[in-house]
Amino acid sequence: MFRMHIGSITEQGLNLDQREDSAVLPLLSAVTGDGIIHFTRPVHVRIHATLSGQTVLIHGTAESEVRMPCSRCLEPFNMKVGTDFSATAVPENPAMIDPVTGDDIELTSNHMDVIAYSGDDIDLGGEIAQQIIMALPFKPLCRDACKGLCSRCGADLNKTACQCQPQDKSGPFAVLKTIAFTKEHE
Ligand SMILES: [Zn+2]
Ligand SMILES: [Zn+2]
Repeated sequence: MFRMHIGSITEQGLNLDQREDSAVLPLLSAVTGDGIIHFTRPVHVRIHATLSGQTVLIHGTAESEVRMPCSRCLEPFNMKVGTDFSATAVPENPAMIDPVTGDDIELTSNHMDVIAYSGDDIDLGGEIAQQIIMALPFKPLCRDACKGLCSRCGADLNKTACQCQPQDKSGPFAVLKTIAFTKEHE
């Protein structure tokens, strides 16, 4: 697990260099649960942490590699994912109160880079999993110039040139052309 002991943070700070299987991070297991995305390498985390009072300032990188289908041609491919991140860890108790509104500060929604800890241990797993998930591309492409699939016959245009005509008269807009022609002559 990605854990940090507060007691081991010296005045020079603490460097952490750790690899863990993605399966130890529940958020990542949720992402891979449907079998579309696989992690092909462990999650590699490098962190520098410094202590300021009871607040721990964390800067680091999180990297891994995923295998997932291209959004154009649907062919699975491997892709490195990685990100720099910064986070702050603060003691869970006493409850954090917003000095302006007097409300409890909601850690999960508005302060995603704040990690609450109790005791001497900081669990970095949730933050690291979130960072990896945010680094995943919304529309993964196996290559920038991926030609995708033919919208008519479904052929992978990276591998083959199909016989479909790009401006075939039997296409969906042919009907519209007929309507326009008829109206002009009414
Ligand atoms: Zn592709
Ligand atoms: Zn085609």
